[in-house]
Amino acid sequence: MEKRKALFIDRDGTINRDCPYCHRIEDLYIYEDAVEIMREYQDKGYIIIILTNQSGIGRGYFTLEEFWNFHNHLLKELEKRGVHIYATYFCPHKPEDNCPCRKPNTGLIERAVKENNIDVENSIVIGDRDDVDGEMARRFGIRYRIIRR
Ligand SMILES: [Mg+2]
Repeated sequence: MEKRKALFIDRDGTINRDCPYCHRIEDLYIYEDAVEIMREYQDKGYIIIILTNQSGIGRGYFTLEEFWNFHNHLLKELEKRGVHIYATYFCPHKPEDNCPCRKPNTGLIERAVKENNIDVENSIVIGDRDDVDGEMARRFGIRYRIIRR
């Protein structure tokens, strides 16, 4: 099977305004410039995969069900704007858990690459935080582009 190129994109602060700990639908505000960027990559044949730290789950600020409720709403709003999210990978842990998946650790992107047969050399990470998304990209050895907010 041929390898696919991917746009790995952060969620909170990149696609939607950070709340922080976004989980209420009424707090969802989508950045249209991020939509535009995702559409451009999509048109060039990239699949779009969200990689997101969601420690609010581990901290008990919201439940897994609330996470999916908010997230599925976001996905629906993106579909309305012509953007299809191929997959979502999230880390539910707290920083103190020292898990391998919390960005800037590379666990999420490693899984996403493996499970979706991604061509890393021709893929890219986009995020709003150089110390989180940028650092993950550097550790993993993949291109990175920042969206400054
Ligand atoms: Mg962010």
